[in-house]
Amino acid sequence: MSKRERIKGFYSALFKRYGSQGWWPSETPLECMLGAILTQNTSWKNVEKALGNLKDRGLISVEKLSVVPAHVLAELIRPSGYFNQKAIKIKNFIKFIKENYDGMLEKMFKEDSKKLREKLLGIKGIGPETADSILLYAAKKPIFVVDAYTYRILSRHALIPEDSDYKEIQELFMDILPKHTRLFNEYHALLVKVGKEHCKKKPICNGCPLEYDPHAV
Ligand code: SF4
Repeated sequence: MSKRERIKGFYSALFKRYGSQGWWPSETPLECMLGAILTQNTSWKNVEKALGNLKDRGLISVEKLSVVPAHVLAELIRPSGYFNQKAIKIKNFIKFIKENYDGMLEKMFKEDSKKLREKLLGIKGIGPETADSILLYAAKKPIFVVDAYTYRILSRHALIPEDSDYKEIQELFMDILPKHTRLFNEYHALLVKVGKEHCKKKPICNGCPLEYDPHAV
């Protein structure tokens, strides 16, 4: 079986087992983007607590986040960990939206994907995974998000060399799959799901939707 067939087969097997994941779990695009920043190095449960605090204060707004002092913001997002750094990242991100798009998300989302990605990566504290999550899940651009689970699953199945970087893994998916936002949305979410349920540090291959594939653990 070719690499192309296996990558496509993974999606079918995962979708068949788990179905649609309904990502990203957020009420608005801004909440989605804040979640993408807050989720760095923590669990989604902690992100939900931090977002809940922001919602309770009516702070899920570009205007309000632009005026709230960083130390107040840091306290509110404390449950997400690394809260001082994350407060600065959020402030930098909001400043970017204000300066480049007059604070209007619709204007930001109309930007060409490649240009927007470059600009996002220019914001201190925004790396490729966060930038691509913003592009895919908030701006609805067809770009594949790579995370630690993606790397782990693909390397355990010998689909990528162990020293593969983010760009190489992203290109593998984007070269093989049709460039559809909906497909990229589901595929990434499904890899996270199987990563959490089966492809843990110590893999539980027995019963995993991908156990049929030849792999090296
Ligand atoms: S748990 Fe095993 S079968 Fe499942 S993705 Fe990981 S290595 Fe593959």
